[in-house]
Amino acid sequence: MPEHEFDVVVVGGGPAGSTAATLIAKGGHRVALVEKERFPRYQIGESLLPATVHGVCRLLDVADDVAAAGFQVKRGGSFRWGTSPDPWNFLFALSPKLSGPTSYAYQVDRMTFDDILLKNAARHGVDVREECTALEALHTGDRVTGLRYADADGRRTDLTAAYVLDASGNTGRLHRAVGGTRHYSEFFRNLAVFGYFEGGGRLPGADRGNILCAAFDEGWLWYIPLSDTLTSVGAVLNRDQAGRIQADRERVLRESIERCAIVRDFLAGAERVTEGTYGEIRVRKDYSYANSAFWAPGIALIGDAACFIDPVFSTGVHLATYGGLLAARSVNTVLAGDLPEDRAFGEFEARYRREYAVFYEFLAAFYDMQVHEDSYFWKARKVTRAEGGDLEAFATLVAGAVSGERALVDAASVTDRFAASSAELADAVVRTGPARTDSGERMGELFGTPVVGEVMEEMNRIQRRGVTGPATTEPPLLPGGLVPTADALRWTTP
Ligand SMILES: Cc1cc2nc3c(=O)[nH]c(=O)nc-3n(C[C@H](O)[C@H](O)[C@H](O)COP(=O)(O)OP(=O)(O)OC[C@H]3O[C@@H](n4cnc5c(N)ncnc54)[C@H](O)[C@@H]3O)c2cc1C
Repeated sequence: MPEHEFDVVVVGGGPAGSTAATLIAKGGHRVALVEKERFPRYQIGESLLPATVHGVCRLLDVADDVAAAGFQVKRGGSFRWGTSPDPWNFLFALSPKLSGPTSYAYQVDRMTFDDILLKNAARHGVDVREECTALEALHTGDRVTGLRYADADGRRTDLTAAYVLDASGNTGRLHRAVGGTRHYSEFFRNLAVFGYFEGGGRLPGADRGNILCAAFDEGWLWYIPLSDTLTSVGAVLNRDQAGRIQADRERVLRESIERCAIVRDFLAGAERVTEGTYGEIRVRKDYSYANSAFWAPGIALIGDAACFIDPVFSTGVHLATYGGLLAARSVNTVLAGDLPEDRAFGEFEARYRREYAVFYEFLAAFYDMQVHEDSYFWKARKVTRAEGGDLEAFATLVAGAVSGERALVDAASVTDRFAASSAELADAVVRTGPARTDSGERMGELFGTPVVGEVMEEMNRIQRRGVTGPATTEPPLLPGGLVPTADALRWTTP
């Protein structure tokens, strides 16, 4: 195929784009990824959840690289929140779905984390094109059938594809090609102002790597330890503070810290970083929204291009990577001819919206500061409809494990099954012997040989068994819905 024709074009190399691109390439398809920046590039969103670290990263075959990067281990969260005067903690290990070795996540420098994921996509065969800006979706009739982009020299290129996935974050415009509208939340109308400090204090013992969230009258502060000495500190404030922030963002951040005793004390001997990438004080606004449609024929939205709620509980990268996984399954399913497009993408949108809605409802309740922390735990059980204790439901929810998807909470066994079926396939190739590839033999002839036919048949058999066989006992998440195949890369009927 010429280099302008792909099965899938992904726009954006953040966690959503890298996840989808890698999992579609693993499904055996030709994928291009178009990224505006050259990586590593800065991004906010440093506190991750176990479902991303142990679920999605393992499916991407990148869990070891992420572990080797030396990120700060995060075992849970600490809060000065609600009517309790004292901070309270939770540990991911309290969730029955995450007990044992997967009950932690990381606080990451996103430049490094996103770069690891993007390089991993390239390693899996994705054609990664950095410093290339997506301009518009290309249509054939009502269907999106490609993408136009401009490279660093302004040269325009058209790529054709069966699917375009928009993972361009909250600044992209491609989402309009889906045809819906972007609904901004009436409830979460906040702004964030944030910077970085060297030498801040740490919580004691096992809580050392926790995210600390501390409320004060006008909003709340996050305090995220990125290394032994570097801390990300941000204030989330009501929109009515926009004028003050516009006038002097540094002053607003400083005054917010002053209003919050626990953070003020931690930063007493610390210095704000004033040089390099971390030297800037940044502001973000208008980040709480959801699009009214997540897909249309030939295109789907994932990550911030589709929706985001709020920084508390660090759900952004989880929703982005989960959305990437769901979209990849739908693309792989349709390209394999297993199910019709509306069924596969209907499952994508239904699961994605459910995850978004559960967090939305819980986070809205979490902003009620007039209650004791026990009512947050109770609310978590209510929105998740979990059996068992309130605190366990809370830990499961804020670990990103509420869907109970095996790919998120038990990715190890999923990848083992994938490795087994890949090994079986490799074995089939060896058993049938190498195809004759005398010089000058044309590809068409090669594909017509009995040897290749035999391998293809074996491959289909293994795939079919992957779809129907001992694959999965996972029930559908939604009534009448689909279930993931054993390798977690496609959908099948239960
Ligand atoms: C104040 C704040 C704090 C947050 N804190 C957390 C947190 O602690 N934990 C957490 O999990 N989440 C957090 N988030 C959310 C998190 O930042 C996002 O949800 C996450 O980065 C989304 O990933 P993504 O892949 O969808 O998009 P991004 O990471 O934004 O990646 C999109 C990529 O698309 C590229 N792009 C854009 N336009 C184009 C184009 N036209 N052509 C080609 N490429 C393009 C961009 O360069 C970028 O690399 C926070 C968000 C905010 C606003």
